Amino acid sequence: MPVLILGSGIAGCAAAITLADAGWDILLLNAGESLADGNSNLAQGGVIYRAASTMGGADDAKALAKDILAAGHNINCLRAVRHLCRRGPTCVESVLVERAGVLFDRDASGEYSLTREGGHSAPRIAHRADFTGKAIMDGLTAAVLEHPHITLLGRRAAIDLLTSHHHAKDSRFRYEVDNRCLGVYVLNEESGEPETILADYTVLATGGVGQIFLHSTNASGCVGSGVSMAFRAGVSLANLEFMQFHPTAMYEERSHRRSLITEAMRGEGARLLDVHGKPFMPRHDRRGDLAPRDIVALAMMEEMLHNGAPCLFLDATGIPKDLPEAFPTVFKTCREAGIDIRREPIPVVPAAHYFCGGVLTDTRGRTSMGGLYAIGECACTGLHGANRLASASLLEGLVWGVSCGQDISRRLRREKSLPPKLRAAIPDWRHEGDDRRDDPALVAQDWANIRNTMWNYVGISRTGARLRRAFEDMRDLVRHIHDFYKHTRISRRLVDLFHGSQTAYVITQAAMRNPQSIGCHHRTD
Ligand SMILES: Cc1cc2nc3c(=O)[nH]c(=O)nc-3n(C[C@H](O)[C@H](O)[C@H](O)COP(=O)(O)OP(=O)(O)OC[C@H]3O[C@@H](n4cnc5c(N)ncnc54)[C@H](O)[C@@H]3O)c2cc1C
Repeated sequence: MPVLILGSGIAGCAAAITLADAGWDILLLNAGESLADGNSNLAQGGVIYRAASTMGGADDAKALAKDILAAGHNINCLRAVRHLCRRGPTCVESVLVERAGVLFDRDASGEYSLTREGGHSAPRIAHRADFTGKAIMDGLTAAVLEHPHITLLGRRAAIDLLTSHHHAKDSRFRYEVDNRCLGVYVLNEESGEPETILADYTVLATGGVGQIFLHSTNASGCVGSGVSMAFRAGVSLANLEFMQFHPTAMYEERSHRRSLITEAMRGEGARLLDVHGKPFMPRHDRRGDLAPRDIVALAMMEEMLHNGAPCLFLDATGIPKDLPEAFPTVFKTCREAGIDIRREPIPVVPAAHYFCGGVLTDTRGRTSMGGLYAIGECACTGLHGANRLASASLLEGLVWGVSCGQDISRRLRREKSLPPKLRAAIPDWRHEGDDRRDDPALVAQDWANIRNTMWNYVGISRTGARLRRAFEDMRDLVRHIHDFYKHTRISRRLVDLFHGSQTAYVITQAAMRNPQSIGCHHRTD
């Protein structure tokens, strides 16, 4: 297969469509039941659109770049920022509007109705009500499903990258200076068996890491598979300490689900209340409920710790609008959980939301390993620096999906396919242990350890002592899970646990190494 893409969110689909439209055969794998099983489908706010002004307004690529750099505390990669600002508008037009047919909201004059979010100096967010991600994924899914050059395989969880140094049986390939990615071992959940998939180019588009924290807005499969596989293969990673937390996710006592409650509600007048029903934000910041995201999240953590409360409350009853019409997704989600937001406050907690770090790439999505690309939330292009500007991530996934597709297409035209001897030197997965099945109780307890440790010690507020403790705990847990993994028959539960524990370990290590409080890496010592 010329190209294998792992992950079918906005980044994976954009890359697949770009390559398939150029005539290349693509294999697109994902771990879930449907293509829209990742975070892309959950996006509510929207996607940055008019970076380059076409209407003579104040907004332009330079203003956007300035906002991205301010959010990222100026440790962003300038090349990446310029790349996004330059290419963003055309990618939205050509892929989302023309190719996927996404109908962004328009105003009475037929122009896109662009909104402004926190940190933006101008209205530039294109959206479809408050379900933009779903509208985008519906369009991309339709385009992918009808494409004759794209083969789809669902319920395939990638286990490990195949590399010439680590896997080739023929020793001559191990003495080549450059290690090359040759494809992946995946678990076919239908047969329960691991499969070997070889490809000239492999693209990681496996999304975020939020599910390694106790509270997260992320889809259930976001356990950092791409980061964990790249780490084991020796690929360069960057900015792993920068995890962005969202202040308001709905807290449900009996479920691990933490649905996002948009910040726009506080913009419209909703107020955060403590366990006694009293507003607390004015005590923490003069801007009260409208203080920036990180300040609100930190204040909430302090309130929760102080009162020993599992959650706080967001009261939207005073918003002078028809709530079901203004916030259809929030209204529906809360309704399903038995909460009528017109009459009662919503139980909320801060939650792990967006991962600014990941597999280090250039503006084409190339990584430090030959044959391997990374795009979307699993990649670190340097665009976000120490923190992400709101609504910049869908656009990043889209732009890098297209750029990576174009780069691979150029290389496929120029370069030879993997040599048959190298292909033949890659063995199929060998199960070395006995036929022991994983024990759900052990797996659940390991996950509880990972999520609580990451939340309490590597979460919103970090100290040297907490990080050292987390590092020691994670190091022992990873060793233990590795052993367990080697002796137990492979399963999806085990693959996720393995990826999640390794990702938690490398994030903890990065957070421990950076003593400076900056962006979303908040050290209180
Ligand atoms: C609730 C919420 C709201 C958001 N709102 C916005 C917004 O308004 N604007 C914005 O710009 N950003 C927003 N974001 C962030 C944005 O949605 C994500 O950063 C972006 O969608 C990530 O896209 P992706 O293609 O990288 O990954 P995803 O869309 O998460 O897709 C990941 C894919 O990888 C696959 N995968 C994972 N592991 C494996 C494996 N081991 N093997 C095979 N496949 C695997 C999954 O099955 C999935 O198909 C929001 C995020 C959340 C959670």
